[in-house]
Amino acid sequence: MSTGQSSPDGTDQLQAFFRGQYVPLSEAKVSVMTHALHYGTGVFEGIRGNWNEEKGAIFIFRLREHFERLLRGCRLLMLDIPYSVDDLCEITVELVQRNRHQQDIYIRPLAYKSAELIANLKLQELDSDFTLITVPFGNYLGSDALRCCTSSWRRVDDNMIPARLKISGIYVNSILAKTEATMAGFDEAIILNQDGHVCEGSGENIFVVSDGRLFTSSLEDNVLPGITRDTIIQIAQRELGLDVVERSIDRSELYLADEVFLTGTAAHLTPVVQLDNRNIADGKIGPISGKLQKLYFDIVVGRNPKYLHWCTAVEPRLVTA
Ligand code: PMP
Repeated sequence: MSTGQSSPDGTDQLQAFFRGQYVPLSEAKVSVMTHALHYGTGVFEGIRGNWNEEKGAIFIFRLREHFERLLRGCRLLMLDIPYSVDDLCEITVELVQRNRHQQDIYIRPLAYKSAELIANLKLQELDSDFTLITVPFGNYLGSDALRCCTSSWRRVDDNMIPARLKISGIYVNSILAKTEATMAGFDEAIILNQDGHVCEGSGENIFVVSDGRLFTSSLEDNVLPGITRDTIIQIAQRELGLDVVERSIDRSELYLADEVFLTGTAAHLTPVVQLDNRNIADGKIGPISGKLQKLYFDIVVGRNPKYLHWCTAVEPRLVTA
């Protein structure tokens, strides 16, 4: 939502952090020789900044946790970038201020193998770099009550590419599943792991409500340890007093659930009302999903004082280049 004041929302006026500097987004370009472009050797994050009109600020949600996860990915992919979590948070705040957004935004950091070398299938002794962009961002899944299908694609296993990290190349797995689902007319895919347990959506974790308890796939089932997943677990326990169980989930438990919902930075908390053309319970958004969604929305936009420590408030600022 724009306040109507002049704000560079067209991407042509945005800046990016690239090769250690703030530059116009149009100048943040890499060579076709770049290792990560060929082999997916990058790790990234998806972070949301939520515009709070009343406070005239963007509230970035759980910024530190996103960069902690990014740096874990850097360790695995041997990406040496010269920034700590604190540095990365500072760079982000500066870029958000420079871009003077006055609406919801998506923040995309990417650490990648920047070496310009072809036919080099290893990680060591290859240069790495870090870049960051911020863009206006609205509704991600395109529906408030999702119709999903069980994907025929299986999740990659930890011994293939570890799903616990946001590794660029791994997203081909998610993209194949999402393409199959959307081409068949569904909103999102539910992906099973190698042994047939419910894993997650293409870019979201999954929760099941059954007999008043909340269940979510355990991290050992090749799911991303979602920051929204962690947020929902905490607020479900603290605010609603719910029992939350992390364990393997069978496919049939989804068909028999009282409620199912997906969680993710882009997706927020979005209820699933149908799976494989079968209604989940009565096919309507359930009460626990609704309550958690409301709590979550207030928290991410900085309206719940109890959880302000999860938010980094950034006011738009005019910065000369
Ligand atoms: N699973 C996958 C595969 C994802 O890409 C995402 C989005 N990052 C999630 C789950 C949710 O993670 P988070 O809540 O940290 O955004």
